[in-house]
Amino acid sequence: MSADRVALVTGAGRGIGSEIARTLARDGVFVVVNYNGSKERADSVAEEIRAAGGGAVSYGCDVSDFRACEEMIKEIIEKYGRIDILVNNAGITKDGLIMKMSEADFDAVLATNLKGAFNTVRHASRCFLKQRSGRIINISSVSGVAGNAGQANYSASKAGIIGLTKSVARELASRGITCNAIAPGFIETDMTEAMTETAKESVKAQIPLGHTGSTKDIAETAAFLASEKAGYITGQVICVDGGMCM
Ligand code: NAD
Repeated sequence: MSADRVALVTGAGRGIGSEIARTLARDGVFVVVNYNGSKERADSVAEEIRAAGGGAVSYGCDVSDFRACEEMIKEIIEKYGRIDILVNNAGITKDGLIMKMSEADFDAVLATNLKGAFNTVRHASRCFLKQRSGRIINISSVSGVAGNAGQANYSASKAGIIGLTKSVARELASRGITCNAIAPGFIETDMTEAMTETAKESVKAQIPLGHTGSTKDIAETAAFLASEKAGYITGQVICVDGGMCM
């Protein structure tokens, strides 16, 4: 089977990733819904997309695993003929103050959030170069732009994503491939649900627009960056954060 445009969205079984998958599918893109945790959730996102008339399949792969990412991308190219859009969305938090942060918590967050993005870009770039086209969209965070107390590991990984984005953008630009980052602010998902009420209130107080964002806010930005309309934008970090970072 071959589709006109094929996207891989990592960590797309729930939250921001699942909304990006639905939105790209709405725009006519065949979506590979990557998951690591729950196959059921990823299957149901893909099923929902197909029920709405779009194309999608789920694919299990831990993005922190270099070889598993190679296999995933190889299979996508074999089965669907191409990859046009790569969205590195998979991410985890393991928050703690720096003086108490364990080495394991630092390594785990960097392995998924930063190395995971390297792994997929590394293996998909050959395909993008051959096609002489491609859109890479990396999900960073306002914590990577401005830092955040209690999130040294997470902020480092998300700041790393910005460096990766800009370097890849420079490397691949001559072949018509764009690479951009989105830095979400406070978006209501399972990830932010884990925060204490006090922490949530203190973040909300820093949002000039006065309210939290939705997964749709991020998904529509990703869909724009993936579209032809954004062909002249590369190496940028777009904060979708109600004005938190300005
Ligand atoms: P979420 O926890 O709901 O979703 C993250 C997804 O990533 C989950 O489906 C999880 O299973 C998947 N995942 C985790 N480790 C993985 C791995 N090794 N391989 C493959 N998949 C893996 O969180 P979310 O809020 O939807 O976050 C999505 C992205 O947006 C993350 O990168 C997060 O850091 C970023 N972000 C979120 C917010 C927010 O306020 N929610 C703010 C800034 C940035």
